Amino acid sequence: MNRDDFPILGRTIHNCRLVYFDNAATTQKPKQVTDTLLFYYNRFNSNIHRGVHGLSQEATALFEEARKCVKKYINAPSEQEIIFTKGTTESINLVASSFGKAFINEGDEILITEMEHHSNIVPWQMICDEKKAHLKVLPFNENGVLCMDLLDNFLTEKTKIAAITHTSNTLGTINDIKKIIGKAHAKNIPVLIDGAQAMSHERIDVQELDCDFFAFSGHKMYAPMGVGVLYGKEKLLNAMPPYQGGGEMVQQVSFEKTTYNELPYKFEAGTPSVGDVIGLKTAIEYMENIGIEKIADYKQELLRYAFAKLSQMEDIEFYGTAPRKAAIISFNLKGIHPFDAGTILDQFGVAVRTGHHCTQPIMTKFGIPGTVRASFALYNTFEEIDLFIEAVKKAKKMLL
Ligand code: PMP
Repeated sequence: MNRDDFPILGRTIHNCRLVYFDNAATTQKPKQVTDTLLFYYNRFNSNIHRGVHGLSQEATALFEEARKCVKKYINAPSEQEIIFTKGTTESINLVASSFGKAFINEGDEILITEMEHHSNIVPWQMICDEKKAHLKVLPFNENGVLCMDLLDNFLTEKTKIAAITHTSNTLGTINDIKKIIGKAHAKNIPVLIDGAQAMSHERIDVQELDCDFFAFSGHKMYAPMGVGVLYGKEKLLNAMPPYQGGGEMVQQVSFEKTTYNELPYKFEAGTPSVGDVIGLKTAIEYMENIGIEKIADYKQELLRYAFAKLSQMEDIEFYGTAPRKAAIISFNLKGIHPFDAGTILDQFGVAVRTGHHCTQPIMTKFGIPGTVRASFALYNTFEEIDLFIEAVKKAKKMLL
């Protein structure tokens, strides 16, 4: 892993070397990705799909190359099933709104889990309100593992869709989504996977998983902000109405009647974030060049090292100790508010996230206001973990 690819890591914060452990919120971008943005804007910038001029055609070609790249990366059967969005949030809203309009009716149920990010809760609540449907919530246990023994009872003849996170951004838990998908499909229930945290720590094969929808954000996998993906099975996407109206998603418009474009354009209204989409391709190539499995193994080593070191400290409480965990550690120092701990860590240049991490139901379950969350990326080092541990010790001393 070449840290020099990430110039921002050379920065100082409050005169200390930056230790960036807020990767679950967003990862830093390698030069290759930021160079792609410059390359695009300096040489290709043009609106896509609708121009006969050369520049527009070149930009369109780059954009569609990126779609092919994403298709291959997640092993989707067809490019038509790759829809570019702003991010996971928009991808989930698209499905909740469009699938909801078409298939959810009064009295139906939608299954989520207790560890979902707000963006995989609120869109479903909104469609439940609209359609008078019910949200069902599969709980997790004290280790942050879903209560799989309850799953059969939660998947009923009224369940219209299950929307489950692959990996919890707060607990780090990697869920057995293959099993959940299998059980849901046995009852003909489609499954959406929130893959926001999954993409940076394991290889995703949507055909192997057999998920019906898979949502993710580029910015959590070394790509620019402003681009995300919704993968959806063609048959379902074709049966769903458009999410937003506007240019690009139409075939023919008149004041009397409008016909819609084919997939994936039916769901891509308006001008997309072309440069960011092309940057996503560069990020995927960057990870592939290093090796997804190598990145995953290295991050697990960082996780084990940090966890072992933190565990040696007294008065520390962990949230999320599942056997299968991504490189995310949520904790609190007993008697210290997470905001106070985070503020002191920042004074030593250590960037961690503090608060509820957009998962307030998890905080309610544990009866806490928030946690301190350290999350690792491919460019982090054992030495940085040592600096972080020293900073945590100092914070403890100062605050207790
Ligand atoms: N789901 C999970 C599990 C996440 O971690 C996040 C981002 N924190 C989201 C959804 C939302 O992603 P975005 O803000 O990129 O749309």
